[in-house]
Amino acid sequence: MGNSGMDISFSSLGAAEEVTGSKHVVEAYGKNYLIDCGAFQGKRAEADRKNRNLGIPVDRIDGVIVTHGHYDHCGLLPLLTKQGYQGNIYATPATRDISSLIMMDSANIQARDAEYLRKQSKKQGEKFDWRPLYDERDAIRAAGQILGLSYHRPLFLEDGVKLEFYDAGHILGSAMAFLTITREGKTTRILCSGDLGRKDKPIIRDPERPPAADYIVLESTYGDRRHDTADNAMARLAEIARQTVKTKGRILIPAFAIERTQELVYYFHLLVDEGVIPEIPIYVDSPMATNATTIFQVHPECYDEDIHEAFIKHHKNPFGFNSLHFTTGVEESKALNKHPGPLIIISADGMCEAGRIQHHLINSIGDPNTTILIVGYMAENTLGRRLRNKNSEVKIHNQWFKRRARVEELNAFSAHADYVEAVEWLDSLDTSHLKRILLVHGEPKAQAAFKRYLAEKGYSNTEIIQYGKTYGLG
Ligand SMILES: [Zn+2]
Repeated sequence: MGNSGMDISFSSLGAAEEVTGSKHVVEAYGKNYLIDCGAFQGKRAEADRKNRNLGIPVDRIDGVIVTHGHYDHCGLLPLLTKQGYQGNIYATPATRDISSLIMMDSANIQARDAEYLRKQSKKQGEKFDWRPLYDERDAIRAAGQILGLSYHRPLFLEDGVKLEFYDAGHILGSAMAFLTITREGKTTRILCSGDLGRKDKPIIRDPERPPAADYIVLESTYGDRRHDTADNAMARLAEIARQTVKTKGRILIPAFAIERTQELVYYFHLLVDEGVIPEIPIYVDSPMATNATTIFQVHPECYDEDIHEAFIKHHKNPFGFNSLHFTTGVEESKALNKHPGPLIIISADGMCEAGRIQHHLINSIGDPNTTILIVGYMAENTLGRRLRNKNSEVKIHNQWFKRRARVEELNAFSAHADYVEAVEWLDSLDTSHLKRILLVHGEPKAQAAFKRYLAEKGYSNTEIIQYGKTYGLG
């Protein structure tokens, strides 16, 4: 990066041969544009070490483009600001709002972690030297640097460098960044997929088909996996709900606060509206999810046609209905323990590692009339993964609990295209100018499989991007 000597180049400072910490650099005639500024996630010490080094001095960055509001794509924006970056950050308006929420949440968590670790080390008589990456003030300043750029509103970042956002169909506000770089009659078009979504997801639109690009930077998270379809998810959800009504039990759903929770609410709303299931009290028990749902409500420009047909046309709020409740205080959350069934509780965190979902699990894991419904990715070594694996005993808050609750899994909710869907999307594009596909955001095994599959389908010029290496484009 920097002055690589090449006119146009690409390099990666994160999410190269791995799936978190997205940070890529497009250099165009000496100017550097950072595509995403995400945090690494994973084992604490390693993630912390990687997150402290942005990999590029901030005075070399001429613009930042954020594809969507997931922590691993926007989580380090406040660090950029803290280190002195004063330039613009470009994102869609919905991404701007979601990013603000995520950055503030992270600042809060870090402050609490610091407090906890300080106490721990004091107890053990050790020296305390851990500091948060950034604080709330940094997050607020970063939010203030974001310029909202709607889909299909081309903007010149400088003379000869045009940015346009296309819907990526991944989460609310998610975008692909299309860069058109023109100099002395030569034009180079680079499409950065961000996280590529899927067709027929609830609420949001399908991934769009941007114009012909010379280079496509493509994510490869599920380069070796296939997903169920959304239709299956609706039917299974209905089945589980009906059974719970019969047994007067409860459904516990650990869900990510952003997108997954709103999708579930939306699906349950549809099922109730269509009379497929009776009205069951549904509680969204996560302050973060409640805040995120408010953001969904104020961004109808991101909705797909179905939601217009089913709700907006009839002046109905897709994220609010009679049997749906958003809890506020801890007392209300605790009171749910005594609530008679049938009952549905959607709560964070998505991998059961923290948050109110843990209290609900402690309360109900021993009850055979409870269903724990897994709807999202569960990383290794998390409580969520142990539940998904149907372990008969799990440890929560340092105490062992026997599991008598049933565990069901729905994998149709994934927000990432699987390898077949990704190639279907590629096939739908005009690839007459396509010179190379640059693969990022995938584990090595998935990337190798994806590269082979792409070659089979006629996309032979693909490159698995390595950390820190510079690739000339043009
Ligand atoms: Zn994402």
